[in-house]
Amino acid sequence: EKKIKRIDRAKDKSRVREKDSERLKVEENVFDIPTLKILYTLSNKGIIKAMGGAISTGKEANVFYAEGPDKELAVKIYRIASSTFKAMDAYIMKDPRFTNIRNNKRDIIFAWTRKELQNLKRAKSAGVRVPEPVLAEKNILIMEFMGEKEIPYPLLKNTYLEGDEAKLIFDTVVEYMRLLYKKANLVHADLSEYNILIDPKDLTPIFIDMGQSVTLEHPNSQEFLYRDVQNILRFFSRYGIKDKPEELLKKIQAE
Ligand code: ATP
Ligand code: MN
Repeated sequence: EKKIKRIDRAKDKSRVREKDSERLKVEENVFDIPTLKILYTLSNKGIIKAMGGAISTGKEANVFYAEGPDKELAVKIYRIASSTFKAMDAYIMKDPRFTNIRNNKRDIIFAWTRKELQNLKRAKSAGVRVPEPVLAEKNILIMEFMGEKEIPYPLLKNTYLEGDEAKLIFDTVVEYMRLLYKKANLVHADLSEYNILIDPKDLTPIFIDMGQSVTLEHPNSQEFLYRDVQNILRFFSRYGIKDKPEELLKKIQAE
């Protein structure tokens, strides 16, 4: 019995080690030397007071918590080494704002990061609740942290809603899609329960992850809008919301 316990313990240890080495690999990919240099500079300028823990590790980017001089921050770092930047091409190359970026991975990622900052600014000016953007530098985007005391607000996907809460949130999501479209001239293009946070205090949705958002001039903007509408309807159908995609489109595009 003792022996089994010992083996178990050793296995557990090795598992921890395995996990650690994987985490280290990811960190190595995120914190390459140029990225570290930017973070040091931002820290010297007092824009970041302290870096905190990882909030998320995504396909292209990692998001970290950071302490700012006057508020909590989220630092989104696009990985140069391990991102599947090919997918970025379709979104950025046809965007009239980004026609003359060179066709290499670093430049595409830098343009992508600037684009996310600009999209957040436009969304915010249009009255859509998004993290307030602070700055973009190369592959690093700094924005307001949406959460409290280092704990991010939950994703819509992980929120348990009852009574009329779902309808309330749905209506605001649709209104935000309309504001984005009519006032910001933008389509989110990756809108779903995975890219909407919920403020638990007043149940307002918060749109995040706008790197791929496109202006209406983008040749695929209508297709992207239709996909966003379908994602939103699919999610809210479980709460008995049964609008038709065409009706929703009309609402979003109404004068
Ligand atoms: P990628 O497409 O590169 O994989 P991503 O999906 O990983 O991007 P985001 O969706 O922007 O990137 O962010 C990932 C997660 O980090 C979010 O689901 C959310 O939980 C958290 N997050 C992002 N921005 C903020 C923020 N401003 N405040 C708090 N949490 C955030
Ligand atoms: Mn996301």
